[in-house]
Amino acid sequence: MCSIVESLIYVVGEDRILVNELMSRHTTFRIGGPADVFAVPQTVGEAAAVVRICREQGVPYYVIGNGSNLLVSDEGYRGVILQIYKNLSEISVDGETMTVQAGAMLSVMAKRALEHGLTGFEFASGIPGTVGGAVVMNAGAYGGEMKDVLEEVTVLTGEGTTATVPVSELELGYRRSVIPERGWIVLGAKLRLQQGDPETIRARMEELRARRVEKQPLDLPSAGSTFKRPEGNFAGKLIMEAGLRGFSVGDAQVSEKHCGFVVNKGAATAKEVCQLIREVTVRVRENSGVTLEPEVKLLGEF
Ligand SMILES: Cc1cc2nc3c(=O)[nH]c(=O)nc-3n(C[C@H](O)[C@H](O)[C@H](O)COP(=O)(O)OP(=O)(O)OC[C@H]3O[C@@H](n4cnc5c(N)ncnc54)[C@H](O)[C@@H]3O)c2cc1C
Repeated sequence: MCSIVESLIYVVGEDRILVNELMSRHTTFRIGGPADVFAVPQTVGEAAAVVRICREQGVPYYVIGNGSNLLVSDEGYRGVILQIYKNLSEISVDGETMTVQAGAMLSVMAKRALEHGLTGFEFASGIPGTVGGAVVMNAGAYGGEMKDVLEEVTVLTGEGTTATVPVSELELGYRRSVIPERGWIVLGAKLRLQQGDPETIRARMEELRARRVEKQPLDLPSAGSTFKRPEGNFAGKLIMEAGLRGFSVGDAQVSEKHCGFVVNKGAATAKEVCQLIREVTVRVRENSGVTLEPEVKLLGEF
């Protein structure tokens, strides 16, 4: 690790390379042990250099945004975490086109769309992630998804080149894309929105915000919906029907407010969350015959 740290400091700068950085500081679950190295590049060139160095030295790497869909192991991550977040988050608007760097937060983009009287992005205004993470997950809510507004994405390939990929080639489906299997890192995106009435846009965002506040346990750390929505059903409903509202393993709990969320009541460990997920999966299958699949990404050894 010593030699890679030196190489990374050389390209990114000492204050942007953290050693043994606790991942609990970078995930909305507030869970996760130390990453060997945590890199925060300031430019696309620096991000490409981090990837090149990792590949040359045979060190695993993993990209994160806001960490809002991640469960990181208590043992952390052996390798380099590359964070694309506020460090790479420029947004520009030209007519009905919004061009963003991958670290831009969806909430900030939604606010910018509103300022420009652009409609089509209201659905994403309350999703607490970066656009990079949202593209990878084809994030969606309240009848909208990234697929509806994306035009193209700029990626860094595993070979270290950049490429512009039209949305039709991303194979966006329910909470999936080809990006992870191709080993791409999202650097930026171009979105196509439409002119709309600012008051209507504002009212829709406010309505969706109120629905989240009413239904979701936003006062406790979580990673949002823990499970994918099973075909023709809802994970939260199946979990509730299995009698698991409030079911806990240590400080990990099926939310009392919304059974689709697992929340961290204070000092939950990744192990506890994992055990809870396993137990919920077994009991829901016994009760309904449906096998739930996690939506949350697991990182590290479990
Ligand atoms: C309270 C709450 C509510 C939520 N509500 C919703 C919702 O309504 N709808 C929804 O879809 N999701 C929801 N989520 C989940 C989450 O916010 C989204 O999945 C979000 O898009 C993840 O973005 P992120 O930047 O946090 O990604 P991260 O959690 O950091 O990463 C998620 C995945 O994307 C990859 N990734 C991240 N950035 C990049 C990049 N630049 N290039 C390549 N890969 C990358 C990571 O490797 C990882 O596999 C919610 C989460 C919370 C905590």
